[in-house]
Amino acid sequence: MAYQFPVTKTANPKARPADESKLGFGKIFTDHMFIMNYEEGKGWHNGRIVPYGPFELDPSSMVFHYAQELFEGLKAYRTADGKIQLFRPQKNIERMNNTCDRLCVPRLDPEVVLDAIKAVVEVEKEWVPHNEGTSLYIRPFIIATDAFLGVHASHTYIFAIILSPVGSYYANGMDPVKIYIEREYVRCVKGGTGMAKAGGNYAASLIGQEKADKMGYAQVLWLDGVERKYIDEVGAMNVFFVIDGTVVTPSLEDGNILPGVTRASCIEVLKANGYKVEERKISIDEVKEAYKKGTLNESFGTGTAAVISPVGEYIDGDEKIVINDGKIGPVAQFLYDELTGMQWGKIEDKFGWIVKVD
Ligand SMILES: *Cc1c(COP(=O)(O)O)cnc(C)c1O
Repeated sequence: MAYQFPVTKTANPKARPADESKLGFGKIFTDHMFIMNYEEGKGWHNGRIVPYGPFELDPSSMVFHYAQELFEGLKAYRTADGKIQLFRPQKNIERMNNTCDRLCVPRLDPEVVLDAIKAVVEVEKEWVPHNEGTSLYIRPFIIATDAFLGVHASHTYIFAIILSPVGSYYANGMDPVKIYIEREYVRCVKGGTGMAKAGGNYAASLIGQEKADKMGYAQVLWLDGVERKYIDEVGAMNVFFVIDGTVVTPSLEDGNILPGVTRASCIEVLKANGYKVEERKISIDEVKEAYKKGTLNESFGTGTAAVISPVGEYIDGDEKIVINDGKIGPVAQFLYDELTGMQWGKIEDKFGWIVKVD
């Protein structure tokens, strides 16, 4: 590693979770975190690993008022021989810098961030769980810290990385999810922050998620904010359809969609294996027509947390679209096996996507 960071060890290490089948997602945090500061004139500086604990922030800190905040999400995986590895972390770092540009946050040196991720995971490697499907979730984030109520980009920031051991997403088997199509609210509009991994996008989407919850649906399918007819994505996942044997996913060109690392990896794996893949606009009407004709073979979401999440049903008002009898389809299963195979080191990484930590 090119960059080394000072480590202050905690005096009070926590007990690690004994039962890995009860980890869940994002509830438990490790003993240490990475922190780095930004100050105008000084740039990003003072990268260090310190005991996990609260931040002390002025109540007027800009992040509390104007949501100048962004984040990333990736995982560290334990292989059968006990080694720890990452999956395409450079893609997350590149995306984080693109989000920085959109939110007027100063960019970070990608090499510093990669070394910081490796260093903090290395310090916490005992926290990477062992059970099938478990991993250590890595959450880098940036907050604006100027104590000032005027509206402009902050001159000071904190970049931090926290870590959370997470359970297998499919502890109870790979049950397809039911998804609610939102017609009233939108997640973003063209020219907005749809392509940025910004906390503010999530705040704006909670209302749709609450509507879905009330109706007994797991997630929300968001349509484009202008014409309200093209499919954007599913809350925290990108979305794919298999129509008459062709794999179709919304294109990134309008900047409404978060460019998922899982999405990009699925497209590359599919193309390398001879599947026909199209990145283009796809309207909800096209999906419904395919359903009526019997050519809607599959649909699934993609994201770091679940990898592949098969969709069993969409609901639009009182119109239901039931897919593949509510069962996982062959394309979703193929992608799940390929990606998780590489991530946990069970199959050869032909793409050069794996980055070893130790
Ligand atoms: C993080 C995220 C995704 C999935 O991206 P991955 O890199 O595949 O984890 C999709 N949509 C939104 C809104 C996200 O924030």
